[in-house]
Amino acid sequence: MKCPRCLIEDLADDKALNSLSRHADVYICNPCGMDESVRDFAPLLPVFNQSQWPVFTRYSFTDLG
Ligand SMILES: [Zn+2]
Repeated sequence: MKCPRCLIEDLADDKALNSLSRHADVYICNPCGMDESVRDFAPLLPVFNQSQWPVFTRYSFTDLG
């Protein structure tokens, strides 16, 4: 099953290995979980609610470095 946030990554069969979205009660891939974390503490980056999924731009902590 594809990640509902990016439609790029495959979710792990074991749900616990994925990330729980901060904006919806659904599991998303780990890169998306990282992206949501980055957006939560980077005020200049827009937050994507579930209604705006799929998102096509993801940031990671390494991108910000
Ligand atoms: Zn994703």
